[in-house]
Amino acid sequence: MKIGFIGLGNMGAPMAANLVKAGHEVTGFDTAGVTVEGVTPAASAAAAATGADVVITMLPNGAILRSVAAEVIPAMTKGAALVDCSTVDVDSARAVADQAEAAGLLAVDAPVSGGTGGATAGTLTFMAGGSDAAFAKAKPLFDVMGQKAVHCGAAGAGQAAKICNNMILGVTMIATCEAFALADKLGLDRQKMFDVVSTSSGYSWTMNAYCPAPGVGPKSPADNDYKPGFAAELMLKDLRLSQQAAESADADTPMGKAAAALYEQFVEAEGGRGMDFSAMLPRFEKRGRS
Ligand code: NAD
Repeated sequence: MKIGFIGLGNMGAPMAANLVKAGHEVTGFDTAGVTVEGVTPAASAAAAATGADVVITMLPNGAILRSVAAEVIPAMTKGAALVDCSTVDVDSARAVADQAEAAGLLAVDAPVSGGTGGATAGTLTFMAGGSDAAFAKAKPLFDVMGQKAVHCGAAGAGQAAKICNNMILGVTMIATCEAFALADKLGLDRQKMFDVVSTSSGYSWTMNAYCPAPGVGPKSPADNDYKPGFAAELMLKDLRLSQQAAESADADTPMGKAAAALYEQFVEAEGGRGMDFSAMLPRFEKRGRS
């Protein structure tokens, strides 16, 4: 396929490289002038989109996605697909899909999980929203860049699945970290705490697969001085998106709200920026009740 790839950052560059490796003809554009081996550089987003069967975007946020979409949609060929893999707010995802469909294009919102490691290895999970025809067109590319693609529903459903999942993740990480900090103060050995909780009703992905306590459980960023991994500021971004969506849909999400406030404090006032999101544990460790 002829593919236009817009946004060749930490995630986009390895994803585009995997499409090239699979034999696709990829033209790329990034405002930072990034180049990727095998990807033909274009002078603008519109130039990368012209004549493409599929245009993939991998951008920082919804406002940038909206401005890039306004530029590429008029340049795209009718019947082509616009596939946004960024994590953005549900409203932007739906607005861009409406605009694309009005111009005779197929549209999919397909945020990913798996991080830069998954992007490089081609093992991402895609959660997709859009019509059956749009999903079918993008699916062979998801199969190259990832190991799993779930068609979650209509436009916006992929973003909805992503932020609901990550709201659970943020809340659960905080719960796991505060429980470890309490266990410390009660004189409970961390390994014993892990042995019990990981096989009891408090088990979770954050405890069992990504344990925030160094030297306990499988290898995780805690064993590497809390270098990300999944950075605290990206967790904050996703929690903010969950609260924006909850606001817009009138959903009551008190735990998500509390998690967003805690990560905001951690990232913006307590030196958490650039650390893994599991560094909430040393944060709690240093604190008392008030
Ligand atoms: P990044 O900042 O490394 O890459 C974004 C790229 O977009 C940059 O290279 C930037 O120059 C480019 N860009 C910005 N504005 C542009 C424009 N108008 N036109 C063209 N290019 C433009 O970010 P990333 O880590 O690659 O993340 C991309 C998206 O994927 C984000 O929405 C993020 O939330 C999501 N995501 C990231 C991870 C992760 O672990 N990094 C995991 C899952 C999802």
